[in-house]
Amino acid sequence: MAEKKRFQAIKGTRDLLPPETELWNRVEATAREVFGTYGFGEIRPPIFEPTELFARAVGGETDIVSKEMYSFPDHSLWDLEGQRTYILLARPDAGNPNSVQLFVSALDKFIDQLANAASSREIPATSDNDRGFERLRAGSDRISSFLVPHATNLLDQFDLTVGHIQQAAALIKLGDLVSLRPEATASVCRAYIEHNMNQWPQPVKLYYLGPMFRRERPQKGRYRQFYQIGAEVLEREVAGGEGRVASKELEKDAAVDAEVIEMVMTFFDRLKLPGTQLDINSIGHNAPECRRGYVEKLRGALLEVKEQLGEDSRRRIETNPLRVLDSKLEHEQAIIAALPKIGDCLCDDCAKHYAEVKRQLGLRGIPYKENWRLVRGLDYYMRTTFEITAKGLGSQNAVCGGGRYDGLVELLGGPATKGIGFAIGEDRLVLSLQEAAKEVASGEWGVASEKGACDVYIAWMGQKTQETAIKAAQMLRGAGLRVELPAMEQKFGKALGQADRLGARHALILGEDEVASGLWTLKKLADGTQEKVAAGDVVKRVKESKSLRVRPHP
Ligand code: ATP
Ligand code: MG
Repeated sequence: MAEKKRFQAIKGTRDLLPPETELWNRVEATAREVFGTYGFGEIRPPIFEPTELFARAVGGETDIVSKEMYSFPDHSLWDLEGQRTYILLARPDAGNPNSVQLFVSALDKFIDQLANAASSREIPATSDNDRGFERLRAGSDRISSFLVPHATNLLDQFDLTVGHIQQAAALIKLGDLVSLRPEATASVCRAYIEHNMNQWPQPVKLYYLGPMFRRERPQKGRYRQFYQIGAEVLEREVAGGEGRVASKELEKDAAVDAEVIEMVMTFFDRLKLPGTQLDINSIGHNAPECRRGYVEKLRGALLEVKEQLGEDSRRRIETNPLRVLDSKLEHEQAIIAALPKIGDCLCDDCAKHYAEVKRQLGLRGIPYKENWRLVRGLDYYMRTTFEITAKGLGSQNAVCGGGRYDGLVELLGGPATKGIGFAIGEDRLVLSLQEAAKEVASGEWGVASEKGACDVYIAWMGQKTQETAIKAAQMLRGAGLRVELPAMEQKFGKALGQADRLGARHALILGEDEVASGLWTLKKLADGTQEKVAAGDVVKRVKESKSLRVRPHP
């Protein structure tokens, strides 16, 4: 018998269970509702995409792409993969014709099957693969010659040849590399291009919700499978905009940015998420007279204080100086405060755009805090960046990050397109709402996270009663009430105990008397009062007492 094994969710993943999932559903329903009022429609992209899409969009140098993605070759050629593994692990011995023979046979079989798979287009026809085949064939010819017993002075050559064969085998791509999505903006842009959305009425406003995957170190508010709710506004860029036109476009973009931010804040307000703070910044655009100039200035200033910086920051001076501004290290804070600020280095257009975003936020009554150190970890952002933090989350307190990414669609092979969007971390949002509910125990979420929330528990006893109990359950459920109908009849005391454990609000007691008279017994479990109600009035009575429940707000 197989060994008994207790399976557990993979590290960094978890099961979301009732009643907590009630809160998740409510959060999602609220998102759909609020985003709908702003004219956004839902997009559901696939959960995996070509690795290259993320490498290009998110940026090969970012942590996400360089070390956090779950990637795998997409093929089902397990036989070939097995043969490859055999070849890679083999250590044939030139002095032992048998072992050479085995290696040569395995290699020839591998080459044959590769050729078959290639001709039936089961493996990608790339020039790398073509080159790989050639090297394998050449290696096979050369290694066969060692089967003829001869000069052992060729031993070095033998090992070298085996090495070349193994290298070539390792590099053959049996399938395209795909990745579980670490974020969804790249997918939305891919979809925009694929479905020619530049022909749709502009701008195109889309939202999504669902799981994302990043191989990070799990901790509070940080998981390997986590959930995001996000939205994107994509818009065809007008050609040749200069002077007045360009200036109008800048104003329009700023209004779009502000409306997107307004939408997130409205969503958070609707959820009564306490203690939110909106930080905004402009990181300019990728040009020498703007961000690139700033980055050089920053690098220069960082080199001067290099000795005082920690290891991470020191490395980032070369790789990505902006990320130094992100540092949370206590002793670096004073040093960072004295560094040059991006706000002083923005080009005229970016400065104008940023000023207009702030004016627009003002028009909409949205409080914000300017934070020149807000840079964000993804490569594609330009101009507006923003982040929203909430309470009760410890150091992982960012619930939403977003920004403008004009040019990303073009980078992915599409037409010139402007973009702005955000992603909310749903896990953290839910965590923060739960923390808030703990503080105000009777708060709205306190009610939602009560156990089970069952409206009616049907306590039926006596075989002849079951049919009436089933009909009663159908009627109550048809009216949208939550009903528990025990599968077996129960003793009265046990039934009430069970109703209590489920947090039921009412027990509907059905015995032979009730069935005969058509007058059912309805017991309110909060105060134990009970009354006889005509079968036809039960739905009404339950609903009345439900609406009497007080729902104090925090
Ligand atoms: P952080 O600085 O917290 O790592 P980030 O800059 O990597 O965030 P984004 O890629 O902008 O985050 O994603 C947007 C939001 O998604 C974050 O603000 C956060 O709420 C959430 N998020 C990101 N990574 C995780 C994760 N591993 N687990 C849970 N939520 C996450
Ligand atoms: Mg991160």
